[in-house]
Amino acid sequence: AIDCASQAIDFIQNDNPDNIQIYDDDLEKAIRERHEREKLLDSVDIDENFVTYYQAKVDVNTEEIVGAEALVRFLDPTASGAVRSPWFFIPYYEQTGKVTDIDFFVLRCACKMLRRRLDSGEKVVTISCNFSRIHFVKPDFAIRFEQVLNEYRIPKELIEVEITETLVMEEMQENLAKQTLDDLHAKGVRLSIDDFGAGYSSLGVIEKIPASVIKLDRSFLLNQKDRERQVKIMKSIVELADNLGSQIVCEGVETDADVELMREIGARVAQGYRYAKPVSEMAFEERLSQSVE
Ligand code: C2E
Ligand code: MG
Ligand code: MG
Ligand code: MG
Repeated sequence: AIDCASQAIDFIQNDNPDNIQIYDDDLEKAIRERHEREKLLDSVDIDENFVTYYQAKVDVNTEEIVGAEALVRFLDPTASGAVRSPWFFIPYYEQTGKVTDIDFFVLRCACKMLRRRLDSGEKVVTISCNFSRIHFVKPDFAIRFEQVLNEYRIPKELIEVEITETLVMEEMQENLAKQTLDDLHAKGVRLSIDDFGAGYSSLGVIEKIPASVIKLDRSFLLNQKDRERQVKIMKSIVELADNLGSQIVCEGVETDADVELMREIGARVAQGYRYAKPVSEMAFEERLSQSVE
């Protein structure tokens, strides 16, 4: 270790000018790129540059589509419309507040699709939409949400509100978030706890939120060092959900072994690459129409 450290000091002292320069250039480049990205994200129009993808939720026994999650994508105009994942823009939009417009855009996309399918008598399933923590400290979220559903005449049970476990627990300190979630529940809106088990207060969250759905985080399937113990824990969660009248959805189901584990713990609904990836609205609707018995 001493050797290593003295080599490093040597390196810095002897090779100094050039190497420090390279480091500075990299840092400068990273900062410049970030600025450019933020400028781009500030300037783009939501209706023009964002689309909603859908990932099916599937019953592992029948392989029928029983629901879907709406997931937003950015079509990057500076990269010939490359499809960018939420990690590219959600963190920044959470800082600027634009995420609330994104979330409502996605909700509207889902409502429009459902309305069109209802009108033409095609199969529909419940669509879940992700909502950032920022909404829940605003007193008017429940009302705004209801307005959109009313506008498209969408029955409450066809849209689910996904909120992540950790974000909610943090906001729960403030009563406003609890009030908003209770308001939604009172209006008959289905709440879904996203990434359940990924945080540190999972039991606290189901105690406080009247959840219709609990989405078991992908880490449950990934982390199988002590499989027997893992199965016991997951079985207990499934039983707890049953007792509370909540439905379980397993996230990130990729392999046959994951499905086997789901059977063992008594979970039926899977969301994951094993059954479906997030796809464009058109591709999703095609598959949904085919899945009619
Ligand atoms: P999330 O809500 O937990 O969504 C599930 C993510 O897991 C999706 O990533 C999905 O593509 C990915 N996934 C699904 N099945 C598998 C699998 O079998 N294996 C693996 N490795 N991954 C799988 P995506 O679409 O990139 O979204 C990432 C996150 O971005 C979402 O996590 C959600 O927190 C956020 N997000 C997406 N859309 C919205 C939105 O409209 N509003 C807000 N506020 N956040 C959103
Ligand atoms: Mg989600
Ligand atoms: Mg999730
Ligand atoms: Mg997750």
